[in-house]
Amino acid sequence: MDEETFRAWARRAADWSVDYLSGVGERPVRAQVAPGEVFRQLPDAPPVAGEPMERIFSDLDRVVMPGMTHWQHPRFFAYFPANASPPSLVAEFVTAALAAQCMLWQTSPAATELETRVMDWLRQMIGLPDGFSGVIQDSASGATLAALLTARERALGFTGNAQGLAGGPTVRVYASEQVHSSVDKAVRIAGIGDANLVRIPVTGSLHGMDPEALDAAIRADREAGLVPAAIVACLGGTGIGACDPIEAVAAVARRHGVFLHVDAAWAGSAMICPEFRDLIRGADLADSLVFNPHKWLFTHFDCSAHFVRDPKALTDTLGLRPTYLRTLGRDGVVDYNEWSIPLGRRFRALKLWFVIRSYGVEALQGMIRHHVAWARDLAEVIAAEPDFELTTAPILSLFTFRFAPAGADDLDALNARLVERINDDGRTYLTQTRHDGRFVIRFQVGQTTTTREDVMTAWAAVREIAAGLRAG
Ligand code: PLP
Repeated sequence: MDEETFRAWARRAADWSVDYLSGVGERPVRAQVAPGEVFRQLPDAPPVAGEPMERIFSDLDRVVMPGMTHWQHPRFFAYFPANASPPSLVAEFVTAALAAQCMLWQTSPAATELETRVMDWLRQMIGLPDGFSGVIQDSASGATLAALLTARERALGFTGNAQGLAGGPTVRVYASEQVHSSVDKAVRIAGIGDANLVRIPVTGSLHGMDPEALDAAIRADREAGLVPAAIVACLGGTGIGACDPIEAVAAVARRHGVFLHVDAAWAGSAMICPEFRDLIRGADLADSLVFNPHKWLFTHFDCSAHFVRDPKALTDTLGLRPTYLRTLGRDGVVDYNEWSIPLGRRFRALKLWFVIRSYGVEALQGMIRHHVAWARDLAEVIAAEPDFELTTAPILSLFTFRFAPAGADDLDALNARLVERINDDGRTYLTQTRHDGRFVIRFQVGQTTTTREDVMTAWAAVREIAAGLRAG
């Protein structure tokens, strides 16, 4: 592609992006295709000769777009958001143009030094004390794995990596049922084993783990000759937004010398608002904390902010320094690949830098405050609806409900049908979870362009679809 053609297509892609985003609210939120529908439209074999960009671009609209679920839709209330924003998108264009691989300081000093700086801005924004060092990971799953590997090594006196785990003591990890499955996955990958993930019961309106039960479990394991290595606390669990009492959990961790990792993947962004920080109290005593600006801080996926108290323990666990990965003659520089599972690193700090500078902290706080307020408003409306039940109250901007008309018998099946109908309808997009053994529907508000009207319009659609379902 020559430069002029490239310029023309780069402009076309920018225009396409702006048009797409300005009209995304008119599309059905969840893709409406059947399995295999996109695949069948793709040729079996690759083209031998290059094709004109015009044709490729028109196939983007014809073949690909119908198979997309629109995560930037203002009525996307499913899962947690993967939200974005114009300044972040512009930074992603530039990042793609640079296409730098930022594994070492010398492979792009600016990427490393910007990362160090914006991570420290984020640390201040969520109210963590200095003494934490930050790194941008590819995902919360990656950060949690890095944390559990570090915890395992610390508990084993840094012998696990060198000698393997076979024949060694049994390492234990503690978490409630409310943590995300990335914790289960990390426990597996770290060679700790499913059976050594000890589930601590939860109590109270925030569905947080019971610190006394945690303490008792750790004591019992110690007495049995097992090695308590890590506690994973959740701040905003995926199902219903559960929050562990971090301060009390941290006290138990300290008492037993156990590593504490906090998974705040979704809710961490809300900690930029001081009024929500009761939830994070005690995190200053944690060893590690992750949250995803790509979930709720208007920054494109992927961007996971991982803070650690002792970066040396992390780099002693993950850092390998073969000769071909040395920054020669520059002692003391940070090579962030030593802090992460993958070696290669995108220049992720740039989009955070654009977002934080372009909005400023106050505007970011304002957006999150709105989301929380609108979720609370809708939860109140639902609680007053005779045919619906508010099954969990809002924790920040996430609550659950279910359709429970008088006389209906199998409410789980009814609600499963309701979710399907809602998502086939396309005006909004919701997903489900199980809570207290019941099938419930999640509603979380966090999309960048969502308005209060979008929240209420989505609810009107749910009511209408539920009424239709009841009628037959
Ligand atoms: N932790 C929580 C609480 C989550 O909700 C999620 C995903 O939704 C994750 C971890 C995993 O996030 P990631 O996709 O960044 O690995």
